[in-house]
Order: sequence, then structure tokens, then C-alpha cells
Amino acid sequence: MTYTRTVHETVAALRTIRGQWAELLLAIETPPADVWPPRQLAHTMREADPEQLDVVERAPLVLREHPAPPNLDALDTGRAIERMIFDLADTLAAAVQTRAPGEQRDPRRWEFADPGAADIRRAHGSRAHGLHFACVWVEGRVLDDDTAPEQQLEGSLTAPPFAPLPPHLLHEARRTARVAEGRLLRTLGLDARTTLVPDRACPWCGGELTLHTGPDTEPSVTCSTGEECTAPVPVDERGRRVWGWGALPSLVVALGVDITTAA
Ligand SMILES: [Zn+2]
Repeated sequence: MTYTRTVHETVAALRTIRGQWAELLLAIETPPADVWPPRQLAHTMREADPEQLDVVERAPLVLREHPAPPNLDALDTGRAIERMIFDLADTLAAAVQTRAPGEQRDPRRWEFADPGAADIRRAHGSRAHGLHFACVWVEGRVLDDDTAPEQQLEGSLTAPPFAPLPPHLLHEARRTARVAEGRLLRTLGLDARTTLVPDRACPWCGGELTLHTGPDTEPSVTCSTGEECTAPVPVDERGRRVWGWGALPSLVVALGVDITTAA
């Protein structure tokens, strides 16, 4: 296959979802965050959280009980994203999975949920492996992995486990992955946006402070005053004093926020 722009965009969205999933799971268990301090900075300045390392290993949200989590919005987003990606995997599997179930146990297969089954693994199929697995599986189909005949030990060739993804399903995968990615980034406050920092003025000049965030950029803060502001940071291309990633901790200190407790 050719590595088209559509493939590239789909893979990028799936990787963003995987990369931010632990953040979302943590967000569900944390009261909704204020605008200030920026989420990424709070994490950097807090002690490394061992819980964060194993949080993606937990069962999918759709299979769990959630007694009153602190952040319902994050839980809704998490469940919606799981549904979108799991349903997408079902759709792709139905179209490109070539071997019949039970014909050959192949861990690369996507197993459909069988709600009537008493066995919990069969009841949920591959969904039980969680969102991370589903994203990796969908990425494999988007990249047309494992679509060539396979040589067996005794030398014979067998049919590949998957057919190449037809174009209309590639576009469906792209659309779904980008919708899911957008919702995840919005919920985490990592989409591209500028927000006035509430209740706090520039400690050097009293100007308005604006927080700039984006999915692929580190957060920064600008002061509205311009070069006359005496803050010891550079000015950006629009003549505003700007605290980049490295300077943000000093601004946090200047504003007197105890960032280690303000998650
Ligand atoms: Zn200022």
C-alpha cells in the first residue's frame, strides 16, 4: 500500500489517543482542573506518580463500576472513546479478517463480543484487552500489516490473517480516530486554545495573562502589555512578553501558586 496522507493522519490520531489515555484515566479520578496552572506543568512539578504507570493496565471503562468519580465529564469522554474505537475495530474486523473464528487460534485476530457467553473473556471478546490494544490493532489494519501470504514451518504458504483495508474503511477509520482524538484533547484541555488566566495579573506590570495550549506544543503564557512589561522573559513575534516551557515554573512561583497541590 502507499503511505498516504489519510493513513498518516489516522495513525497519528490513534497514537495521540494511546499517548493521552493514562491522562484521561487519571483525570476521571481527579476533580475538574482549573485553567491555572496548566495541566502539563502540574504533572511535571508533582512527584512522579507510580499509579500513573500501571493505570493503563486496568480493565476497560465499559467493564468497570464507577461509584461517583470526581470528574464525570472525563468518564463520559472515556466511555465514548472506548465505544468509538471498539466499534471501529468490529467494523474493520468484519471486513478484513479472513480466517473464520476457531479455525486457527491467532492472537492477531479481533474477537467479537458475545454478550450471551457466560465466560467473561468471550462475553467481551477483544474489548476486554482495553483501548490501548484496540488502537494498536486498528493501526495494524490501517497500515495493512499481515496481509501477505505467510510461510509455515514446513514451507507451505497459508493465507494471511487479514485482507488490505478498502479505501472507504480507511476513511471511516480516519474520521472515527480524529473525532475520538478531538474529544479526548478537549476534555484534557490540550486542544489548541487560548484562555485568560483567571484572577491573576502579571506580577511585573499588572497586565492580563493568557495561557496558550495545543496538542503538539508545550503550554506558554503571554502578558498583554507588550515590551514595556518588565518581566525577565523574551518577547514573542507579536511583541508580547512570553513565558515558554522553561520559564513557566518561575511564573508559577511569582504568582504564588502552590502547584504541587493544585492539580
Ligand atoms: Zn507583564
